[in-house]
Amino acid sequence: MPVGQRPRKAGVFGGTYDPIHVGHLVTGIEALETLELDLLIFVPALRSPHKPDATLTPAEVRLDMVRGAVEGYPRLRVSDLELRRSAPSYTVDTLAEMATSEPDTEITLILGVDQWRAFGRWKEPREIVRLARIAVLTRDGERPSESLPELGDGPPPAFLEIPVTRLDVSSTLVRERVRARRSIRFLVPDPVGRIIEAKSLYR
Ligand code: ATP
Repeated sequence: MPVGQRPRKAGVFGGTYDPIHVGHLVTGIEALETLELDLLIFVPALRSPHKPDATLTPAEVRLDMVRGAVEGYPRLRVSDLELRRSAPSYTVDTLAEMATSEPDTEITLILGVDQWRAFGRWKEPREIVRLARIAVLTRDGERPSESLPELGDGPPPAFLEIPVTRLDVSSTLVRERVRARRSIRFLVPDPVGRIIEAKSLYR
């Protein structure tokens, strides 16, 4: 890295994104602003270890929907790293690959409080906190410091908090509305809605 240049700061926000919706996007932008990141990278999972039985839309279609959602927002990106590996998608492997391919990037892993509580059961949590800073998304009344994950020996992991306005939207809600032939306009960006329509997803 040239002398005087600071490392690029990137947030990593993983999920299944089936489909990506305004809750993910609003939260991603809030994380960008609060943590003063240069980039926020959505990383769709091939298959989440936390949702092993879920029937998912094909990975390349979920990836296209995220691409459509972030189009025109240069600080919002999408990575296909997990889609190029075999399932399930472990965060530690993704962060290790990013550290190798982007050595000048400081990575912050963005987690919901529920993910943070389960973090001690993830694959190699100590290695994850070595590879990335952790930022936990919080809403009113949520106290991530009251439920620190146990990582065996040693001190609890350090983390940042990002207070966010969590919109009451989920991918489940979007899929249910499509199935019920109800509108999803404004719950997902228009390019995402067009892909759902064109491919007859979630019927
Ligand atoms: P599903 O309804 O299928 O379980 P989801 O809407 O929770 O999906 P995921 O792809 O599992 O979407 O979520 C990816 C990440 O986004 C997770 O960290 C999750 O906590 C977070 N997230 C999901 N919905 C919202 C929302 N409305 N606001 C903020 N973050 C969200």
